Amino acid sequence: MLRHYLEVKAEHPDAVLLYRMGDFYEMFFEDAVAAAPILEVTLTARNKGSENEAPMCGVPHHALGAYLAKLVRAGLKVAICDQMEDPAEAKGLVRREVTRVVTPGTLSDPSLLSGKEDNYLAALVWDADDAAGGAFLDVSTGSFLLRRWSGAEEALEDLKLLRPREVLADLETLPANVRGWVESEVVCRTALADDRWTDPRRSARVLADQLRAATVKGWDLEPKEPAVRAAAAALGYARETQQSDLSHLRDVQVGRATDDLALDATTLGNLEVFRNARDGGRRGSLLGVLDLTCSPPGGRMVARWLRRPLRDPEAVDERLGAVERLLGDEPRRERLRDELRSLGDPERLRTRAVLGSLTPREAAALRDGLRTVPRVLAELEGSPSGLLRRLAEVDPLAALCGELERVLVESPPASSKDGGIVREGVSGELDEARSLARDGKRHILALEAREREATGIGSLKVRFNKVFGYYLEVTKANLESVPERYVRKQTLVNAERFITPELKELEERILGAEERQGALEAELFGALVACVAAESEGLGHLTEALATLDVLAAFAEAAARFGYVRPEVGAAGGPLTIEEGRHPVVERLGGDAFVPNDVELDGDSAQIVILTGPNMGGKSTYLRQVALIVLMAQAGSFVPARSARVGVCDRIFTRVGASDDLSRGESTFMVEMIETARILHQATAESLVVLDEVGRGTATFDGLSLAWAIVERLHEVGRPKTLFATHYHELTELAALLPRVVNRTLAVKEWEDQIVFLRRVVPGSADKSYGVHVARLAGIPRPVVERAQEILANLESQEYDLHGKPRLARGGGPASEEQDQLRLFAPPEDVVASILREVDLDRLSPLAALNLLQSLKSRLKD
Ligand code: ADP
Repeated sequence: MLRHYLEVKAEHPDAVLLYRMGDFYEMFFEDAVAAAPILEVTLTARNKGSENEAPMCGVPHHALGAYLAKLVRAGLKVAICDQMEDPAEAKGLVRREVTRVVTPGTLSDPSLLSGKEDNYLAALVWDADDAAGGAFLDVSTGSFLLRRWSGAEEALEDLKLLRPREVLADLETLPANVRGWVESEVVCRTALADDRWTDPRRSARVLADQLRAATVKGWDLEPKEPAVRAAAAALGYARETQQSDLSHLRDVQVGRATDDLALDATTLGNLEVFRNARDGGRRGSLLGVLDLTCSPPGGRMVARWLRRPLRDPEAVDERLGAVERLLGDEPRRERLRDELRSLGDPERLRTRAVLGSLTPREAAALRDGLRTVPRVLAELEGSPSGLLRRLAEVDPLAALCGELERVLVESPPASSKDGGIVREGVSGELDEARSLARDGKRHILALEAREREATGIGSLKVRFNKVFGYYLEVTKANLESVPERYVRKQTLVNAERFITPELKELEERILGAEERQGALEAELFGALVACVAAESEGLGHLTEALATLDVLAAFAEAAARFGYVRPEVGAAGGPLTIEEGRHPVVERLGGDAFVPNDVELDGDSAQIVILTGPNMGGKSTYLRQVALIVLMAQAGSFVPARSARVGVCDRIFTRVGASDDLSRGESTFMVEMIETARILHQATAESLVVLDEVGRGTATFDGLSLAWAIVERLHEVGRPKTLFATHYHELTELAALLPRVVNRTLAVKEWEDQIVFLRRVVPGSADKSYGVHVARLAGIPRPVVERAQEILANLESQEYDLHGKPRLARGGGPASEEQDQLRLFAPPEDVVASILREVDLDRLSPLAALNLLQSLKSRLKD
C-alpha cells in the first residue's frame, strides 16, 4: 500500500495527498507532519516501532469538506486520492486514483469560497520587461482576464487590484519587485519552469480551442505573445486540477487602454475603497457603506464597479437613471430586493454543474433562485429606464427551471448518494423500484409480527446490518422458544441472531429494489446536472443581469438611507462642482455632525486648490471626499452632497499621507516620489489629482522646493484638476503667481482659549501663527512660545525679495524640462555654491543661518 502511496505522491509532490483508506482519508510522512497542526488532529504512526515507521494522520471521509477548507485556507494544495472500486469486491489491493486536486486558486465549491469576492488564479509569463503578460482566471465564476504589461509597475498594479489567491510563474524570470510581491502576498505558488503549458507553438491553439474559435486574433491577441501563453498555462493547470474541460469558459476579456475610469491600487488604498487603512477590514470602507446588495453575484459586481467606474457620460447616466427609478418607487425596490435575496449564486452553481460536482441540494438552490427570476423581471417591464428594460430582456431560462422543478423533490439531501432526490412520477421505473423497496419494508414488519405470534417471543426483532443483512434477534431468556427452522448466524452476550429462508428471500427483493432505486436516481440526477451544464452560458448572462439589477437597487437603497443625490455627469474634462459634499464613510462613522463642504474645480480659473489649515482641521477628509464623490458618480451611484456636477475623469490619482512601504525595502520618501513621478507622467486635463502633504518625507527645504515645483508642473503640463493639501504655507504664494491656482483653508475659531475646528473650507490660507498658538495651548513654557513668535516674525519678513516677488519663486515660473534636469543632476558642490552666492547675509537671522548651514552640509553629504 505504502508503495502505491509513494508512487501517487511522486506525481503530486507539491500537494498534500489525502489517501482514502476505508472510512478515512490518511496522510503520511511530511504531509502528515505539516497537516496535523493545521487540521488539529493527532499525529500517529503506521508500523510503529518498526524500521519503516511512517508518521500519519487522518480525517473521516464524511467530514472532508471542513478539513479541505482548513488546508486550502492555509494556502496548501490538496490532492484527493479515492478508491475506484468497492473494497468488498476488490481482488488484492483496492484500485485508487487521484480524482481531483484542490488548490486555493481553482476552487469552485461555494462552501470554500467567500461569496462576495472573486477568487483568481494568476499565470504570469515574463519574456522581457517590454514583453510580459498575465492571465487571471476565476474558475468558480468563469471570469477570465488577460493583461499585457510593459514593465513591472503595470504588472504590480494588476496583481494588487485582482489579488490572486494562487500564482503560476517561473519566479526566476520575474523582476525583483514583482517576485517580491508574489512571494510576500501569495501563499500558493506553482512553478512554470518548463514549457509544458506555455509552449509558444501550442498556447494559441489551447486558448482558441477553449474559446471555440479558429484563432485568437479575434480578441486582438498575437498567437505567441506572453499573455496568450499565460492564458494557456492557467487553462492547462485549471483543467488538470479540476479534471474537466471547463466548458463554461467561453470568453476572455483582454485588457487594453481601457474605457473606464482608471484607479490604481494606491488610490483604491488611499481612498479606503475596499478596506479601511486601520485594520484592513471592510467596515469603514466605501464598499462597506455602499454594498447593500442582496446576492453574492451582486456583491462581487458592486466591488467590480467601484474598482472600474465608467468614463462614458452616457453609460454613467444610464445607470443613474435606473437608480433614480428604483429610488422613486420604494415598494417595488423592496419587492425586488426581497426576491434577490433568494437568488443564491447561479454563476458559481453552473460551474459546479460543468465540473460535475453539483450536489442535489445545490441544484435545488439553483432552482429556487431561478423561481424568483420571472417575478424579478416582471417588475422591470415597461420601466422608463432603458437599462432596466434591457435587463428585463434576459432569458429567464424557464425551461431549465421547469426541468429542475419537475425532477427534484422540494428539499433534496446534500449528497447524491443518499437517494431521495427525484420526485414521485418522474420515472415509472423509479417509482416501481421505490414502492417495492417500501413494500418490502412493510413485508418485513409483517414477517416480524408473524414470527412473534408463531414463537410467542414478544421481544423478537427483525434487524439489519451490513454484514448479515436482515436477521431475527432473540434474547437469551427466550432461546427455548426458537423453532427448528431458524438458522443460527451469530451469538452475542445477551442474544442470538438467526435467519430464515423466507427472510432472505425478502431481503433480496428489498436490497435489489433499493439498489435499483439508487442507480436510477443517480442517473436521473446526472441527466439533470447535464441540463444545467448545457445552459452554462445562459446562466452566466442571467446572473450578470440580476447582479447588475442588485447593484442598481443597492445604490438606490443607499441613496434613500443616506440622503444622496443624483450627480449631473458632464463631458470629460468639464468642471467639477460639488455643493455641500460629505465624506460617505466619515459621515456614517462620526459621532459629531458632519460639516458639508463645497468644491469648484475647472480647467480655467480654479485648476489647482492649495489647501492649508491646522492639523486635525479636516484636510485629508475633504480631499478624499471629493475624490470619492467623483468615483461614486462615475460608478453610477448617487452621491453624498446637495448637488454635484461631475465632468467625467479619465483617472483619479492620489498621493496621500506618508504611508510606509518599508516591508518592500523602499524608503517612505522613495515611495512618495515614485508615486508622484507616475502622476506627473500620466495625469491629463481629464484627471483628478489629490496630493496630501507631498514632500513631507524629506528635509524642509527639499520638501518645499519639490512641492513647489510639482505644483508648477501640474499647472503647466497635463493640467489635471488638483487638490493639494500642504503644511507648507509658502505654497499659498503660488496663487499670486499662477493664474489657475486658488487658496482654500479650513476655518478655525478661537474661543475662550480653546480652538474650535469649524471643518469649513473657506477661501484664503491658514493663519500662520497657528502652530505657535497650538503650542501655547498645549502648555509649552511661555518664554519658548514668545521666542518662537519672534523667530517667526523674522522668517516672515524674509518672504518677499526686493522686487516684491516671493523669494521662493525666484527664477520666475516653471523651469523648462532641460533646466529641471540640470538642477536635479548638478553636482552638490555647484548647488551649494550657487545658494551661497545668492544668500543675503545682512538679512539672515541667526536661526535661519544655522538652518541654512545645516541644509548645505546635508546636501554635500548626500
Ligand atoms: P487633517 O488632514 O487636516 O489633519 P483630518 O481630515 O484627518 O484632518 O480630520 C481630522 C478629524 O476631523 C477626523 O477625525 C475627521 O473625522 C474629522 N472631520 C474632518 N472633516 C470633518 C467634517 N467636515 N465634519 C466633521 N468632522 C470632520
